[in-house]
Order: sequence, then structure tokens, then C-alpha cells
Amino acid sequence: MRPLYFDHNATTPVAPRVLAAMRPYFEAHFGNPGSAHIWGLRAKKAVDEAREQTAALIKARPEEIVFTGCATESNNTVLFGHFPDRAGHLAVSAVEHPSVLAPARALAASGVEVSHIPVTPNGLVDPAEAARRILPQTRLVSVMLAQNETGVIQPVAEIAEMAHAVGAAMHVDASQAVGKIVVDVAGLGADFLTVAGHKLYAPKGVGALFMRRGMDLPPYLLGGGQEGGRRSGTENVALIVGLGEACAMAMEDVAVEEARQRKIGAAIEAGLSGLGLAMRIHGQGAPRLPNTLFVGFSGFRAADILSECVIEEIGCGAGAACHGADTTVSHVLTAMGVPREFAEGTIRLSWGRSTTLDDAAELVARLKNIMRRIGP
Ligand code: PLP
Repeated sequence: MRPLYFDHNATTPVAPRVLAAMRPYFEAHFGNPGSAHIWGLRAKKAVDEAREQTAALIKARPEEIVFTGCATESNNTVLFGHFPDRAGHLAVSAVEHPSVLAPARALAASGVEVSHIPVTPNGLVDPAEAARRILPQTRLVSVMLAQNETGVIQPVAEIAEMAHAVGAAMHVDASQAVGKIVVDVAGLGADFLTVAGHKLYAPKGVGALFMRRGMDLPPYLLGGGQEGGRRSGTENVALIVGLGEACAMAMEDVAVEEARQRKIGAAIEAGLSGLGLAMRIHGQGAPRLPNTLFVGFSGFRAADILSECVIEEIGCGAGAACHGADTTVSHVLTAMGVPREFAEGTIRLSWGRSTTLDDAAELVARLKNIMRRIGP
């Protein structure tokens, strides 16, 4: 049986051309970009080039890109950086990733006023609710571009206008969007935007933060003054080169690959609908990523489906976790008000560049067997 990896929203494999681009920077070109000799200069040139490649993919300027260790670091930098005095107001959506929600909770505990913007039943951050929660004293609004569980693409540009109208900055966690759909920082109205390397075929351990020209933040890491003083620590040259190459790869074919992956999604949806089970596609009707299907089956528990998926060599995610007899439903499904019978039986399927229509058909066939075996 061939393994079927349908968990690309958790992480992607490193693309062969990304690995090839990185390799010399572990070997011959191992220099420190801060050194004034040929080893250092070569490393610095590689980092500069990766900055250009990363900026190009999101239509930014190279000097607006800060390389970080991960999306979590980018998100934490923006949230904590806006409230050094632990005062003022922050608005975040109810369906942000924990790397936004946990800093928001920490800020709330130390004096910042925090509002959560609710979502509609199909998972869209509700602009009418946003308008009520973006206040004259709001300093920062943080709304993700694509939700990691549902794949729902959020009305970021509309909410950015509201943020700017009260003089607040707009942060967009685009970890799940960059490389999958066209991202344009100006079109989105983003002042800050988070990129995660390992969600777009670069390795884990590297991310980026776009900071619009003219925006500034107190650095999260202090030290040798790398990244223009905005993020100290010797640059992780090889991984940064990997991120640059992954961005260059996405730049070449993001629209074509998006269309191809949408066809795979349509095939999976059609296949699963044909199983005759009580099923609900979360985020149906909302604009969604081309590679994500978050689907709930009434009468099933996600943990049971996932254990069978291990046997069938399918890799996928769940929307609910079991703790003994108790089931915790994800905060995203809770925010959407999904009925418990569908929430508890929710799995996330997310495919990628190497997934084929054959893989989709094979996935549906194996899921059919699983559902028959464990069905109510
Ligand atoms: N933001 C979103 C939307 C994500 O999906 C993830 C990872 O799942 C992150 C942030 C955090 O990424 P990392 O764990 O690489 O820092």
C-alpha cells in the first residue's frame, strides 16, 4: 500500500529544488553573512537574494522582509511589539492560530483590552462584527488570510480599511496562504504579514515577517543587530536560501498549481459525497484554499477515523481531539457553531504539489472502507 499524505497544512515536504539550493550553504558556502571576507560576502549575497525572492512573491520590497525562525515568532513579534506598555486595545479574529491567540491572552492578562471578532457559520470573519470591535483606541487588528483548519479565505482587505480608519495597524497571518494563492500585501492593506517556510515546501525553522515601509516595532530578539536591528541572531543562511527558493518556485506557477489543486478538491468532495453519509463541509460557500477540505461526518469520532487512517497509511488531521471519553472540539468549529455531531467527526484533508487525481481517488476508496468498518 502506498502512503497517502493529506496533511500539507501541518507541514509540506522540502521540495527537491529547495533542498538543492540549500545544500551548498551547509557545505562550501558556510560563512557568516556578518563576516568581511569571501565566505561572509557569499552568504550575505545569498540572504539578500532570498529576501528579494520572498518579497517578490508577496509583492513587497526586499527591505520590508525580516527573516524569523517560524510563523509563531513572526506573530509573537507583531502582537507583543504593539503593546510594550501593556495598554490599549487589540482586536483578533476568533479563529486565529494559537500563535496569535496565546499572545493575545498573555496581553489581556497584563492589561491590554482584547476583543475577539466572531465568524459566520461558514467560517468567515464577519465584517459587521469587526466594525463593532474596531474602536478608536484600537492599536492593532490581527486577522489571518487563510484559516488553517477550514481553508476559508478571510475578507482581510475590508477589515484592514476599518483598522486604518481608526489609525490601527493591520497584521495578517498568511502562513497558510502564501504559495497557495496569490498574495499581494498592498491589495490586502497589510502593514505586517506572516510567512511560514514549512507550509510552502521550505524547511521548518524559517519564517518571515513583512513590515510595511515606515512601520516599526521594538525588536523581539536583541543582540548583534542582524536584519537591520529588527531580529538579532546570526542568519540561518541555508534555511533562508531555502525559503527564497520556495518563494521563487511558487512565483513561477502559483496560479496553475492553484487550479490543479482545486480539481483534486472537487474530486475528493464528489467522491465523499457519493458515500451516502451524513456529511458537512465546513466553510462551504465561502472562498477557500485550493488544497483544504475540512469535513465532518455525523455518527463518527475523528479519533476513530484517524486511527483507521494510520492502518490505511493515510496522513490527515482532525477537528476534534479525544481525552478518554471526552472530546474537545477545535476552537474554530466552536466559533462557527458547528453542531456537535458533525464537529466530533471532523477530519482535515490537505493536499499539495505532489498530490495527483489518482491519489484523490485512492484516498476516497480507502476512506470508504474505513467508514464502512467503523460506521454507526
Ligand atoms: N499560523 C498559521 C495559520 C498556521 O497554520 C501555523 C501552523 O500551523 C502557524 C501560524 C504556526 O507555524 P509555526 O508552528 O511554523 O510557527
